[in-house]
Amino acid sequence: MRLDHQRTYSDDEIADVVVVGTGAGGAPLLASLAAHGLRVVALEAGDNTEPRDHTPDEMLAAQQINWMDDRLSGGADATAFGPNNSGRGVGGSMLHWGAFAPRPDARDLRLRGESGVGRDWPIAHAELTRWIEQVERFVGISGPERYPWDPSRRYEMPPVARNASSTAMLRGAEALGITATDGPVAVATRDRDQEHWGLRHACVNAGTCHQGCRTGAKVTMDTSYLPLAVARGAEIRAGAMVVDIETDARGRVSAVVYRRDGELRRQRTAALVLAAGGVETPRLLLHTGLANGSGQVGRNFLAHGATQVWGRYDEDMRAYRGYPSSIITEDLLRPSDADFAGGYLIQSLGVQPQTLATTLARGGGLRGAELMRWMRDYRHLAGVGINAECLPGDDNRLTLSDEIAADGLPRVRVDFSAGENEKRLRAHAIRTMVALVEAAGARETIVLDRTAHTIGTARMGSDPGDSVVDAEGRSWEVPNLWICDNSVFPSALAANPALTIMALSLRTADALRRSAGR
Ligand SMILES: Cc1cc2nc3c(=O)[nH]c(=O)nc-3n(C[C@H](O)[C@H](O)[C@H](O)COP(=O)(O)OP(=O)(O)OC[C@H]3O[C@@H](n4cnc5c(N)ncnc54)[C@H](O)[C@@H]3O)c2cc1C
Ligand code: SF4
Repeated sequence: MRLDHQRTYSDDEIADVVVVGTGAGGAPLLASLAAHGLRVVALEAGDNTEPRDHTPDEMLAAQQINWMDDRLSGGADATAFGPNNSGRGVGGSMLHWGAFAPRPDARDLRLRGESGVGRDWPIAHAELTRWIEQVERFVGISGPERYPWDPSRRYEMPPVARNASSTAMLRGAEALGITATDGPVAVATRDRDQEHWGLRHACVNAGTCHQGCRTGAKVTMDTSYLPLAVARGAEIRAGAMVVDIETDARGRVSAVVYRRDGELRRQRTAALVLAAGGVETPRLLLHTGLANGSGQVGRNFLAHGATQVWGRYDEDMRAYRGYPSSIITEDLLRPSDADFAGGYLIQSLGVQPQTLATTLARGGGLRGAELMRWMRDYRHLAGVGINAECLPGDDNRLTLSDEIAADGLPRVRVDFSAGENEKRLRAHAIRTMVALVEAAGARETIVLDRTAHTIGTARMGSDPGDSVVDAEGRSWEVPNLWICDNSVFPSALAANPALTIMALSLRTADALRRSAGR
């Protein structure tokens, strides 16, 4: 995005708010605060890009837009980091996200009340939905004319084009009596003018969304909220890695220390928002010791169950073509025969070759000749995958290791093991997906285990004793420190997270603005 004409602030000026990170959590908040006249500076570790800079080459793209620094993983179901996980760059992880944009289900926000396990959200579903609708209106979402699980809902644009995985999923679902439809997708299916950015061209179905969208069709923060923020006077400082947070005698944040072009610098500020994502936000908090009186920073690490089932078909599928995940079913959010709490969404899948090979090896345990056999049939494969609820477990947490990374901070270690609820849910989902893929006509199926997203490591709540921030995202202990990214989720929700993160971002901005008297 263009940053050459933006307003700039000197390190010695006291910004009203410094925001660390420019992803789904940081960007809407930046735009909202700037609109209310607050002097905001975003410090972003990654580089600034234009859509035309993105490449469909999976290896090059990963170096350009993913967070590739080593992170340590432990537990029985160790989380895979690297291209599979968080992003780095002006726009954050949405540079590479899949743009699948379901709304959270009301039942998921009160899972504990319903089932006695997990956590309830300290926010009413109706209120969250109002913020979600605001996001949807601003960025533009495509979807079906009638959404079967919420007929009152309207999407601005017609659905993205279906690919072969999509038609296979629809076929299989129909045979099993499962309702499936075009999903809500944050992709422009018509040319769309985006305020302060320009023309976002309609999707051309290239299928390389995870490598960055070259047309601007896919919603990203650098083509939506960030240009709006800059137009309203925010500064986005790219290549600025925050390594420390300073506090004054009263324990309030007074400045952040960041490294840029090899030099350590210090930006003074009246308030700080951490929006560095579910790994880097708790890393900074644990490193500085801030906001952790409850001992909850880094705890409650949640990862969505994201198991996939792929089928081998006689006909050509070429699932790598077209927008990857266009079909959804919400029928399994509360299966009638469930022996677990919560539920899951199923979506159709398409992936580029390196991602598929990695998932076959990592999630399917394939090596050598068997791996090559599946890869040789790449064009005959089509898959479906879940996004599933995950409950907090005592041992699932992020801690600092004693290894020091190149950025000078301790490396994180993330331990994750699926609990009994996740295992039961997974078994149910595998039965459903295998039946669906077989009903669609696959000759052979394979189950690929994986988890997705990094959630919950600085959760919000109503009790300062067991949460890090309050329901508005404000730290219980440091009054001018706020958190606004996927680390504040009290529970995982079955919906993919980005839409909810953007909604919380606007909501936290509103609370911060009010607390600043604007
Ligand atoms: C392959 C993939 C596909 C996905 N697809 C979907 C999807 O289809 N639908 C969906 O809803 N979700 C999807 N997600 C998840 C979604 O993209 C993320 O949950 C969401 O974007 C996270 O937003 P965030 O603001 O919490 O963090 P991020 O977007 O990761 O933003 C954090 C930003 O902070 C910066 N940063 C970190 N540390 C520092 C520091 N110390 N100093 C300065 N800057 C720092 C980072 O560079 C980054 O830009 C996908 C994720 C992946 C990996
Ligand atoms: S499929 Fe559409 S949204 Fe995805 S990268 Fe291509 S043009 Fe962009």
